[in-house]
Formats: sequence, structure tokens, C-alpha cells
Amino acid sequence: MSLGLVKNIVIVGGGTAGWMTAAAMSALISNGCKIRLVESDEISTIGVGEATIPVIRGFNQLIGVDENEFLRQTQGTFKLGIEFVNWSKQGESYIHGFGVIGRDQLLAKFYQYWLKLYQAGKAPGVEHYSINTMAASMNKFMRAASDSGDSPLSDISHAFHFDAGLYAKYLRGLSEGRGVQRTEGRIVDTVLRADDGFVEAIVMENGERIEGDLFVDCSGFRGLLIEGALKTGYEDWSHWLPCDRAIAVPCESVSPLLPYTRATAHDAGWQWRIPLQHRIGNGHVYSSKFMEPEQAESILMNNLDGKPLAQPRHLKFTTGKRKRAWNRNVVAIGLAGGFMEPLESTSIHLVQTGITRLLMMFPHLGYDQADIDSFNEATDNEYAAIRDFLILHYKLNTREGKPFWDYCRNMEIPATLQRRMDLYRSNGRIVRASDELFTETSWLQVMHGQGLRAKGYHPLVDQRSEADIAAFLANVKDVVLRCAEHMPTHEEYIASCCAAP
Ligand code: FAD
Repeated sequence: MSLGLVKNIVIVGGGTAGWMTAAAMSALISNGCKIRLVESDEISTIGVGEATIPVIRGFNQLIGVDENEFLRQTQGTFKLGIEFVNWSKQGESYIHGFGVIGRDQLLAKFYQYWLKLYQAGKAPGVEHYSINTMAASMNKFMRAASDSGDSPLSDISHAFHFDAGLYAKYLRGLSEGRGVQRTEGRIVDTVLRADDGFVEAIVMENGERIEGDLFVDCSGFRGLLIEGALKTGYEDWSHWLPCDRAIAVPCESVSPLLPYTRATAHDAGWQWRIPLQHRIGNGHVYSSKFMEPEQAESILMNNLDGKPLAQPRHLKFTTGKRKRAWNRNVVAIGLAGGFMEPLESTSIHLVQTGITRLLMMFPHLGYDQADIDSFNEATDNEYAAIRDFLILHYKLNTREGKPFWDYCRNMEIPATLQRRMDLYRSNGRIVRASDELFTETSWLQVMHGQGLRAKGYHPLVDQRSEADIAAFLANVKDVVLRCAEHMPTHEEYIASCCAAP
């Protein structure tokens, strides 16, 4: 099926997804394509989505963004990981820090050596060997030092927190500066071609007809083209991830400025806390089957660190994904393509990978079903791996007597996740596909943090004596601690390079 060369790209929607798409395409497509973005000021963006993971730095580089300038413009802060409070059980917490843990050895991964000594009661928790986690717990931050040789200071891995509205505004400025044409107005209809059902044009409220060869649907949950026009269908995953509501409210900042997101479990869900330079973003994600909105709102408002700065906003969602992210000449990116709760801050990442995948498979010579199928298969795999990682947090809870948590602990889980848990439980093995988002150390921190204990470890570890391993671990722990102590506080670091005006 060939449409000929793609000359007109129409992006439907101007939230984070729409403007990220516009920024990337305007930076990277140079064959004379016209890029037009249509958004309606009357239909607000979702307005949340403020915590990210380190891969976003690659996106910023791709679109030519200066990191300090971007942080100044978006009231941004640095993020070293996520703290999970009360997740495995009430009163316990752990940090999922980004980046590596210890130093992998030729024979076995670092964590296998740690497992042996931990199982023997001769090593402390795994967090002591992660520079990100130790720095986060001491409220310290600096960017990775490229001149630090083998020091843990070169391992620091960071992401950002930022104001979603300011981020979209920043990307809009960048995109318009590179020639993206913005059209304001409400889309009221879609015209499909009679022969093959491809989208020919969208129709605006004022009657204007906007034609395109490729449409990127960034219209949010409504999925104006991918669902409204093309009826692609949606896979509902709420039996595995039963939260379906969120309430968001910003509050005043408090000191210290933490370099991590906090996720605190409540009776039927959890609360996020995202520290920005000018405020803290908060939200309560919960399941409407297990809690009424009034109760959820009161839990949120009673657990803010500062004075609320706005009325709480109630949002509804269905966890899952579109059956095909790319259908005919429409590619859904962002919430139009699917949604999983922000427990591991993966949505903006999925926007980013959707864009890069589309650019890699760009239909410059016309539409080829093999490209479309490969795009959809890769998207499906990516969603499924993230889904399993999120379910893990819920499945491994011991919050007995709370109906929501009892449901999560007892629910059937995907076979893919069950196998991962079994592999870890028996021999301490963590197996993942090479292109999966979450690394072995991410899986390790969450499985261990949620209370899953490995019975064994890799036998190659036994090639070294226990005393030798103990000395190796003690050295890593000591160096990590000293490096974290040496770092400036998060607040000092921001003041030195990227404080908002
Ligand atoms: P929206 O922001 O909803 O934008 C939709 C756009 O479409 C708007 O511009 C609107 O005007 C336009 N539009 C719709 N209909 C029409 C029409 N008829 N005519 C013209 N224009 C139209 N992600 C993270 O990575 N980290 C997080 O911490 C995080 N937290 C989240 C918390 C919650 C509770 C939720 C729900 C999401 C969160 N996300 C998070 C996800 C993140 O917010 C989204 O992935 C991101 O904002 C992208 O949204 P979007 O651009 O797809 O949709």
C-alpha cells in the first residue's frame, strides 16, 4: 500500500506528546515535509506527567536542548530514583535508584556476589552499593563526573522532574522556531478515504479541512483518530493494575529539595510526590472499586507537605493499550496510544520511544505493512515489559487485611512475570531481553525491596573465597559512601547551574 512520499504531517494534540513529536520531527526530518500541529485551547491537556527516567536525556540531546536552560525554563529538578514508602508493608521503604550497582565482574554480576553474602547475613542491603540511592538518601546530587575514572561518581544516572505545562510551552517555542505550524481550534470530524479507510483530512469547527499524508494522534485519552475515526480497539489491563482514578494537586515547596520522586502506598492505591523548584506536584492514584473519590481526596489533602496551591483535580483512566499503535496512516503517541499509571514514570518515556520508533520506520517511500507490523510488535513488547514491572510492585505486598492489597497479592499475574519471579526466587537469576527498558538492577531493587528473597546465587561466585568477596563488597560500599558524602546538596547543585529566574 503506497501513498507516495509523505509531504504533510499532521500532529493532532498539543500536550507533552504532541509537542515532543513536533520538536523531534522538526529537528530531524529535513526532506521538505510540512509539519502542522493542531490543538484546542478549550480542551485542556492532562497537565500532569512531571517525573521522568534517565533516557529522556537522550531525547533532549536528539532535539538539541541545553539541559540547564531546559531546567531553568521548566522549574525542573534532578531525579536519582523513586522512593517506595509502605509498599511491601506499612512502615517499610526502599529506593529504586537509577544506574548501576557496584561493579560487575568477569565471572558474575556484582549483585550475585552481594546475594551470597547477604544470604549468609554478612552484607547489608543492596542500597549501600548504589551511588544513586546513597546520594538520594542523603539529599545529595551532582551530574556524573566524566573525569572520575572508575569512581562511582562516573556512574551517577539522573532524570528530571519538571512542570508539564512549562515543558510543553518550551517545546512549542523550539518547534515553532523550526517551522512547525500551529493551528488552534477544535477538530469536529475526520474524513476517511473511501478505498482504503486511510485518514484523508481532519475537519475543524470553523469548517477548515486539514489534509495530511501521515497523522500522529496525540489527542490524549480520547484517541480522536486512532479510536474515534479508525475504531482500533483497546486492551484493558485493569484486572492486573486495578487503579483507575487519580487526583492531582500542587502544594508549596518545603525544604529540603529532594532529588527523587516519592510513591507512598495508601489503602487503595498510592500517592506521588514530585519536587519542583517552585512547588511540589502531588497526586493520589487509586482504584474506584475499592475507594470513593471523597475518601481518596481527603487522604491526599491530609498528606501534603505544604499548603495546597490549587483545587484538587479528579482524573479517570483505563490502564491498557491500543490494539495497534499504528493503524493505516495514523500513529498514536502518548495517552492516545495507551496508559499505565505513573508508578515508574514511564509514560513520557513511551512518548519518546514511540517518536524514535516512528522516525526509524518513517514511511518515506510510502506505507509498507511490514513496517507497520514491526512498529506495533515492538510497541506491544515494550508495553508488556513495563506492565509486568508495575504489577510486580503490587503483587509482592504483605499489607494483609486491606481489600485492595489482598486482591493484588492474590491476583493471577502474566506468565511472563511469574517466570521472572520464580527465576529470582530460586537461583537469584534475573533474565531480561536486551532491549528492555528496566535493567537487572531495577528488577533486583524492586523484587528485593518488595520482600522477595532469592534462595540461591550464581555458582561461579564460589570461585572466589568468602573473605575475598567480603573485602570486595566492603570496598565498594566504602567508596560509594565517601563519594555520596563528597557531593553537594541537591539545592546547592541547582543554585550553581540551573535555578529558575
Ligand atoms: P494530553 O495532555 O491530554 O493532550 C491532548 C491534546 O489533544 C490537547 O492539546 C488537546 O487540546 C488536544 N485535543 C484533544 N481533542 C481535541 C480536539 N477535538 N480538537 C483539537 N485538539 C484536541 N507520565 C510520566 O512520564 N511521568 C509522570 O509522572 C506521569 N504522571 C501522570 C499522572 C497521571 C494521573 C496521569 C493521568 C498521567 C501521568 N503521566 C505521567 C502521563 C503523562 O501525563 C502523559 O503521557 C503526557 O502528558 C502526554 O499526554 P498527551 O499529550 O498524550 O495528552
